[in-house]
Amino acid sequence: MMVQITGATKLLGVMGYPIEHSLSPVMHNAALQALAIQNSADYLEYVYVPWSVHPEALSTVVSSLAKLGCSGFNVTIPHKQGIMPLLTEITAIAQGVGAVNTVWSTASGWAGTNTDVQGFISPLQGLQRDWFSLTPCILGSGGAARAVLAGCAQLGCPHVHLIGRQPQKLQLLQKVGTLAWGLGVQTHLWQDLPALLPQIDLLINTTPVGMFPHTQDSPLSVAEVDLLPATAIVYDLIYAPNPTVLLTYTQTSGRIAINGLEMLVQQGAAALSLWLGQPAPVATMRQALQACFVD
Ligand code: NAP
Repeated sequence: MMVQITGATKLLGVMGYPIEHSLSPVMHNAALQALAIQNSADYLEYVYVPWSVHPEALSTVVSSLAKLGCSGFNVTIPHKQGIMPLLTEITAIAQGVGAVNTVWSTASGWAGTNTDVQGFISPLQGLQRDWFSLTPCILGSGGAARAVLAGCAQLGCPHVHLIGRQPQKLQLLQKVGTLAWGLGVQTHLWQDLPALLPQIDLLINTTPVGMFPHTQDSPLSVAEVDLLPATAIVYDLIYAPNPTVLLTYTQTSGRIAINGLEMLVQQGAAALSLWLGQPAPVATMRQALQACFVD
């Protein structure tokens, strides 16, 4: 049974450039349908649509959405920074990360936050670990690495290692980690990684290495994965393919492997509950995403 869109249905969405690949509409519309059925609603209260928005059009689109009565939206690459000057309110977490992925309407304009941090830590919070005594290592120094840095601080890790290929980017993130989150951040180039691995408890891949269509690539060789402690967790932010080669090596070696799908689900659930003011149907959102990967 489908609950219908009517003249009273309100608007949610996601803007990016490109946007065609986004799985957010599948996940959010499954949740909105499930909630309407659960509430025996006679029409769909919200619908979630994708918008392909060129960076030059961002400001015009955002003010037009206010005029259309849009309730809120997600922003993805390349707008996570560009949206910030267009908001009247930004949460401390989004300011610290330096990026916004979720926007909602307020009486004085658009407000924004970053739910990637909550999405990232969610699968880790279920593991019984003393994060204060554990050492994470983040591979990559781009946008996702910023949210992961904030997540490591929220978990309680006092210091992290950061691996990248551009010293300037590494230095910038080291500053963000220290100033925004009080983290000790040690930066390294990739050639230093093998020597570090025996002391790493949580290895997080925030690079696109291994992502579709380059599914045979891996940021670590099987021998390098074996250098990690036997209790180490390997977390790959990539969700397609599932598992990546990195996570296949991890699983084969008996270590804990976490893929990026749950982060995607949980950042979406956090955004949806913010827009609706009620808990999101997380299981429905997870199921809708998993169905996208069934051959
Ligand atoms: P980004 O801003 O472009 O950053 C990518 C980082 O990876 C950069 O530091 C880049 O290095 C590095 N990198 C790229 N190719 C590399 C290579 N061949 N070798 C070594 N380093 C390489 O991208 P992002 O937004 O952070 O996203 C990164 C990944 O995270 C993507 O796979 C994305 O799908 C995933 N992600 C998943 C979720 C989720 O919900 N699961 C959320 C966000 C992101 P340079 O800086 O030197 O170019």
